[in-house]
Amino acid sequence: MTGSAGFLMPTYPPPPVTFVRGEGSWLFDDTGRRYLDLLSGLAVTSLGHAHPAVADALCSQARTLLHTSNLFATLPGPAVAGTLDRLLGGGGQVFFANSGAEANECAIKLARKFGGAAAGRYKVVSAYGSFHGRTLATLHATGQPAKHEAFQPLPEGFAHVAWDDLDALDRAIDPSVAAVLLEPVQGEGGVNPASAEYFRGVRELCTERGVLFVVDEVQTGLGRCGRWFAHQHFDVLPDVVTMAKALGNGVPIGACWARSEVAAAFEPGDHATTYGGQPLATAAARAVLAVMEAEDVPARALHIGATLDAGLTARPGIVEVRGLGALVAVEVDADARSVTSELLARGIVANAVTPSALRLAPSLLISDEDLATGIEAVASAVAAVRSGSGGA
Ligand SMILES: *Cc1c(COP(=O)(O)O)cnc(C)c1O
Repeated sequence: MTGSAGFLMPTYPPPPVTFVRGEGSWLFDDTGRRYLDLLSGLAVTSLGHAHPAVADALCSQARTLLHTSNLFATLPGPAVAGTLDRLLGGGGQVFFANSGAEANECAIKLARKFGGAAAGRYKVVSAYGSFHGRTLATLHATGQPAKHEAFQPLPEGFAHVAWDDLDALDRAIDPSVAAVLLEPVQGEGGVNPASAEYFRGVRELCTERGVLFVVDEVQTGLGRCGRWFAHQHFDVLPDVVTMAKALGNGVPIGACWARSEVAAAFEPGDHATTYGGQPLATAAARAVLAVMEAEDVPARALHIGATLDAGLTARPGIVEVRGLGALVAVEVDADARSVTSELLARGIVANAVTPSALRLAPSLLISDEDLATGIEAVASAVAAVRSGSGGA
């Protein structure tokens, strides 16, 4: 641990490198060394680092108006909400939060208010292997019991079912259930895409039983998976969609969209946040969405995913390449953490999403040349770790 890092609570392992600057797909450490970023800060900087349009929007907004509280209207937020509603197919309304977990908190409260008023419904059913956040409620929604143990008792009203198993969900939906909460691709759980049949079946089941279908697009949304929202691959219309990571390209912002009939369950005073929707964050999101639409990032994500798949599948020590669009896991016949250390030593940033899989989520604006560099680096780092010749 270096310097003042000792003042930070030990919630993360000691960091291996200190980054001081970024530009596009490249990061620079405090010695001036450059690294190809294939992770994008966990699928956040989808437009790369220091994107000029986002930087200009932030600077200009900082000189104009930062904050007024949500007691007054400001300009960028409603415009961003309108764009998000259009990208989701229309007919909804948006609540702005500051993170993915907060976007999900909004969805959970909305589901309780909507379901409770009608029929005493309050429970949220999610899947094992899911990740929905670290606040107490979203931690309980997160289907990873090992993460719950130290923090009991957690808020009541959550249940978990096997992933991609419609019968299990069918059995779990009783009259106390207000919502089903699912990721289209389990991101933190190992990059496990849902099947289209599952998502369509969940939609039918939720409609039949009067339960809300909430889709957590915090990691998968905003072009990352090859559509504006990953559930659009499956031709389903959710009742509620949450998003965050890529929305600010690094500026903290989250959003919860709901069909207007559902959103109408909230009345003034039901939910609030000091910062959510404030001009700085929404100015960044407005610039991000404008660049994303101009560059057609969903099409780029499909191209990146296909290139990673073609370049890495069947290489020595690579067991499987899975994912959706540019959210990819590379299953390796080696310790994934050793491979990411080897990659970092070679100037490439990736992460180990499971003990045996790397996660790759490059900038959606990465050049073909940089992508090819990344692919060869991953293949050779896997080979080096397996032959015991790695230098990390
Ligand atoms: C990252 C993530 C979250 C939590 O977002 P934070 O901004 O860290 O609170 C929630 N859901 C999914 C699917 C995520 O990937």
